[in-house]
Amino acid sequence: MDDKLMLMIPGPTPVPEQVLLAMAKHPIGHRSGDFNKIMAEVTEGLKWLHQTQNDVLVLASSGTGAMEAGIINFLSPGDRVLVGNNGKFGERWGEVCEAYGLTVQAITAEWGKPLDPEQFRAALEADTNKEIRAVIITHSETSTGVLNDLEAINRHVKAHGQALMIVDAVTSLGAVNVPIDEWGLDVVASGSQKGYMLPPGLGFVSVSAKAWDAYKTAKLPRFYLDLGKYRKDAAKNSTPFTPPVNLFFGLQAALRIMKAEGLENIFARHQRQMQATRAAMRACDLPLFAPDEAASPAITAVMPQSVDAEQIRSAMRKRFDIALAGGQDHLKGKIFRVGHLGFVSDRDILTAIAALEATLQDLGHQTFTSGAGVAAAAKVLIG
Ligand SMILES: *Cc1c(COP(=O)(O)O)cnc(C)c1O
Repeated sequence: MDDKLMLMIPGPTPVPEQVLLAMAKHPIGHRSGDFNKIMAEVTEGLKWLHQTQNDVLVLASSGTGAMEAGIINFLSPGDRVLVGNNGKFGERWGEVCEAYGLTVQAITAEWGKPLDPEQFRAALEADTNKEIRAVIITHSETSTGVLNDLEAINRHVKAHGQALMIVDAVTSLGAVNVPIDEWGLDVVASGSQKGYMLPPGLGFVSVSAKAWDAYKTAKLPRFYLDLGKYRKDAAKNSTPFTPPVNLFFGLQAALRIMKAEGLENIFARHQRQMQATRAAMRACDLPLFAPDEAASPAITAVMPQSVDAEQIRSAMRKRFDIALAGGQDHLKGKIFRVGHLGFVSDRDILTAIAALEATLQDLGHQTFTSGAGVAAAAKVLIG
């Protein structure tokens, strides 16, 4: 039953039928009035989703392309940057910066723990010559299910005054409140296959006026990802290079669906599903990897003790056609991750938990009462 595959991974995420149908058309010319109209609508919709008046530019790339664009447009070789690293994606930020010859000062936390805002405060206050050009963090660290305290870290960046705040919001945008203008976030990167309810292929970068100032003097090489080109053409409802036009059809449909639901409802749904998933894991005697106070609304990482995480994943896939994510690097085989990001309904959560209970029983995990996980999730979902 191929069509029943249920994606409960943190990207690619499920795509609504309305979005799939919107994309199932012949491409149109991107230098046409029809495309200009779509571009105008999605540009406005993206600003709504990002809660910003800043430019939100669309790239034909994965999320990492948006991250790379967020670095190369605003910094110069040798620039000092503070990079938060408490998981695979924080590590990636460091790798991008090092690939471009930036001077990286890492602020780390153990995988599964949030970054400590105090360490950012200390490093920024110690920088009396204002040499730190940017503070770069991952908001929702997908590899561990940790939500970093962006608001607190950003407050210290604002107190510093000079540094740009550059954020990977790939699994937080469209899942939890990221008020770009209210907080003054300078560069925010995201990707279509996460909270956007779209297939992979589009990267998004929002850019503040302060970041555009830095752009003027930034000296890293750039061409395809030169955001100035995208801004110039976006002003004419166009793009500098051939965009994946069918993904733009999908983006238009997805943004309409999101607007109809409303930001508050979208955030509340992710919050509720995260809490239901966590309650269910507890009831099934499965330890949670991230602490309650720093739990990502997009993804829940679980560290089973008496059963093997990979065995659970493989049984869920084989028996129930439910795809869960595994652990990355040293967490491979130790954790599994349940994505509840984007086009996920409460019913999906109940289904996944029920299937997980059946799988656990099959694998001999005896330390919970049958039905307890579903009951715990239902209690949160129904309230
Ligand atoms: C998915 C993801 C990315 C982007 O990965 P791509 O494979 O390049 O789309 C970046 N950061 C986080 C936190 C992610 O979850």
